[in-house]
Amino acid sequence: MAHVPQRDSVTTIAPDGSRRFLQPADVSGQWVRARRAFGWLLIALFAAMPWIEVNGNPAVFLDVEQRHFHLFGATLGLDDFWLLFFAISGLGFTVYAVTAMFGRIWCGWACPQTVYMEHLFRWVDRWLEGDHVQRARLDQLPALTPEKLRKRGSRFLAYVVLCWLVAHIFLAYFVSIPGLYPLITGAPTAHPAAFVGMAAMTGALLFNFWWFREQLCLAICPYGRLQSALIDDNSVIVGYDARRGEPRGKVAAGIPTGDCIDCRRCVQVCPTGIDIRQGLQMECIACTSCMDACDDIMTKLKRPVGLVRYASLNELNGGKTQYWRPRTILYAALLGIGAVVAAVSLSRIQKAGFKLTRQPGVDLYTVSSGAVSNVFRAKILNKQGHEVRFFIETESSPVPVTILNQSTGLAIGPEGEVTLPLVVSVDRKDYTGEFNLTVRLRSEDGQTRLKQKLHFLGPDPTAQPRPQR
Ligand code: SF4
Ligand code: SF4
Repeated sequence: MAHVPQRDSVTTIAPDGSRRFLQPADVSGQWVRARRAFGWLLIALFAAMPWIEVNGNPAVFLDVEQRHFHLFGATLGLDDFWLLFFAISGLGFTVYAVTAMFGRIWCGWACPQTVYMEHLFRWVDRWLEGDHVQRARLDQLPALTPEKLRKRGSRFLAYVVLCWLVAHIFLAYFVSIPGLYPLITGAPTAHPAAFVGMAAMTGALLFNFWWFREQLCLAICPYGRLQSALIDDNSVIVGYDARRGEPRGKVAAGIPTGDCIDCRRCVQVCPTGIDIRQGLQMECIACTSCMDACDDIMTKLKRPVGLVRYASLNELNGGKTQYWRPRTILYAALLGIGAVVAAVSLSRIQKAGFKLTRQPGVDLYTVSSGAVSNVFRAKILNKQGHEVRFFIETESSPVPVTILNQSTGLAIGPEGEVTLPLVVSVDRKDYTGEFNLTVRLRSEDGQTRLKQKLHFLGPDPTAQPRPQR
């Protein structure tokens, strides 16, 4: 007998604590078609991004080894890491605003777990093991049955290949496609770290999609738990119209009923094993399968579709959905401010990095008969894809200073980084005590002008010389 979902227990856990594996029924309809098209677009984008070149680099290339991060034509270095603040806070406010307005639309339409599970791996399940009835029958067969061995074995192999592919595409985001090729063709012993990382990721994906499946949404993902805080009666969710559907019952019974004929089709298609008619539940990932399933039944019965539909709790209770309310306005405003600041910051990203610190391991200053000198350490990063000549010059100083060996500039190769000692000297006759100065890095093409403030140290000019013994 089919399991009847309860609100106070998890469908995927049997009373004895063992796992109850779900085999959701196939469903077709306008929402599933739209989600499938969108899911495949996301998968295609994920696969294409390392191949698409923008300004001579992959559209997304997180070159951790060289500490350069290429994002759609912009190159960021470690000194641009502060932008992560905008990325993370922007993501947070987007999640708040979208969830408060449209519930778990992210889970149903764009979450990688749902996209790969529903549009790729379940398709493999159907292709190699048949529909949900055939798959459930296969579940019941003893493990060593030839049919089960053959079907489960081929499905497992297909899963291994797909997980391996996804893991390689993911790795390409960190090593680029040209960097990936020698890792694939070379012996594992030549690239042990990459091989172990790749094997671990393939294994993790396999564990998730083969065995863990919906448990990731039900037991691990924190987003589902956040919905009780982010969703209110005006958030649009996948909901059952109980006012229209109840009292539920079979058409043939001859007793007046609501529109729900209690066919349980919406339960059979649910990938998390819940009954949407029991109200909004943490397990609902808003996948819309129950909407299409019920629409199909309503169409066959010649009744209006939408018994299960996108609606707010207010709407389902006969009221209206209020999209703009204090919390959504606040989230959207914070998101807007963050987006503007991030856009301005991104537009001001420099094509080079320049850091000056004191050179470790040397005296704070040296005094010779002719000059007082300080040694600094200059770190220069060329973020451009071609060689650039840089000059380090004095921008402002209260006394004339000389920066040694900088007259001809310094050529740095594409995306190269150079660290060098920088000797700043002041003639003895000009030295009147410690002072602040500003040094600039200028590129020959004039595209870069970066400044750094320095404090020049030296002896106290008013101090009496020590008496000679
Ligand atoms: S699919 Fe529709 S009619 Fe059938 S049980 Fe679910 S809500 Fe009722
Ligand atoms: S209740 Fe409906 S929308 Fe929610 S997970 Fe189940 S099938 Fe998807």
